[in-house]
Amino acid sequence: MESKKIETVRVRFAPSPTGHLHIGSLRSALFNWLFARHTGGQFLLRIEDTDLERSKDEYTSGLLDSLAWCGLSADEPIMIQSSRKDEHQKIADQMVAAGTAYRCYCTAQELDERLGKSSQAGGEYRKYDQHCCKSQHGTNQITSVKDTEKPYVIRFRIPQTTQEQQIGLIFNDSIRGPVHFNADQFDDFVIIRSDGMPTYNFAVVVDDAYMNITHVVRGEDHLINTPKQIWLYQALGYQVPQFAHIPLILGPSGQKLSKRDGAVSVGDYQAKGYLAQALCNYLVRLGWSHGDQEIFTPEELIASFSLDAVGKKGAIFDIEKLNWVNSVYIKASSAETIIDLCNTDIGIECSKRYPLWTASRIAKAITLVKERCNTLLQIVEEIDSLYNKPHYTREQLCALQQDYSLQALCVQKIIALEFDQEENKEVYQKAIKAVMVECTITMRTLAPLMRYALLAKTDSIGIFDCIEIIGWQECRSRLTLFIEEIITCQ
Ligand code: GLU
Repeated sequence: MESKKIETVRVRFAPSPTGHLHIGSLRSALFNWLFARHTGGQFLLRIEDTDLERSKDEYTSGLLDSLAWCGLSADEPIMIQSSRKDEHQKIADQMVAAGTAYRCYCTAQELDERLGKSSQAGGEYRKYDQHCCKSQHGTNQITSVKDTEKPYVIRFRIPQTTQEQQIGLIFNDSIRGPVHFNADQFDDFVIIRSDGMPTYNFAVVVDDAYMNITHVVRGEDHLINTPKQIWLYQALGYQVPQFAHIPLILGPSGQKLSKRDGAVSVGDYQAKGYLAQALCNYLVRLGWSHGDQEIFTPEELIASFSLDAVGKKGAIFDIEKLNWVNSVYIKASSAETIIDLCNTDIGIECSKRYPLWTASRIAKAITLVKERCNTLLQIVEEIDSLYNKPHYTREQLCALQQDYSLQALCVQKIIALEFDQEENKEVYQKAIKAVMVECTITMRTLAPLMRYALLAKTDSIGIFDCIEIIGWQECRSRLTLFIEEIITCQ
């Protein structure tokens, strides 16, 4: 029996460099990458820069940086779509010659006059009336010499067979199952613009075929383009790839996630101190599941990922859950890793920011504070408050002052404690607790005041941990400063 040839999976991520990498696009890239890794296939990258006005080099480098940050590297050299402009034009000319496309000389003004003004967002789609197709009698005959000098676009002639007219187009999506479109939803769309650049729907088909893409995995917002692309594949005699449309990420209101819902670009999350692995873990789980497991190593994701387990419904972006996932990764990272990540991801060099502290004191402080932080930035903020002198607000001081008379003596006695050298937290704890017993004050009463005196904050790591990190001499000077300032509230 002849064995069936199993084709190697080849997928691609094809961002347009018209903005920063959106977390929804990162999720598409991740799904493609995981699908390729899971199946032993190839993951490719294509920069779709044919919209010359909106594409910018800085966005291309930003996209590539964000992908590299997440460890998503391509298995072949990156393709820059505009470099294939001549090939796109050549193929479109061949289609004109074959009668599957035609030149359209209609100006915007003529279209407005004949078909009404181009529709506003949300309005009816204005369909082209095939004026130039009819005038060329369905061939590529150019009607007059003058026509060759006029600017023109090339339009694709969508198939007009009875089958298309009656049942429209049906394709089987790996995530959504059979998807149906009516043919009358579409018109003869432009494939080459008057500036000679290909449109998205045309370039994507020509280049996916050129790159031997077997599966197109992308956001559901492209579903409406798929019938056009399938017709193009058929007209060009190319093999149609398998499509998988991923549901969109929704904001809390159930609408497509937008800037209004907070940070949406991968770079924003990086700058806020989310870890690449945590962000990727969270995004993959958003819309894909594997039992109840939430935290995955990259190897586990590769082993368990499948398109079948991607849900059909849009998934709501939940910042609380992302914070939790990030906190899990932060807790699992060593102080050394966090120091490196602060440097590479948020541009903070701990040794420069805390020059008076030794490397081991910085590491110890990180080890303590990371247990209660969701992001790298929060870690830095916590350490800043240990390292820097506190800035009290009058409002807080005066609020604390109300019960202060009870504790004043105790704080004075704590200030009077002497230690021969900097000690560890157990030594401070023992001595301070002895003072508290003497003053008949509980930790519950004293801690808020001590915390505010040492850090100008109302919550932090344990008081004795703070003292050990800050050091006794510095703690004494902060407590003294606090007393001087709180007295002014009287
Ligand atoms: N350039 C398109 C985008 O950024 C790619 C769509 C596709 O994957 O076909 O949305």
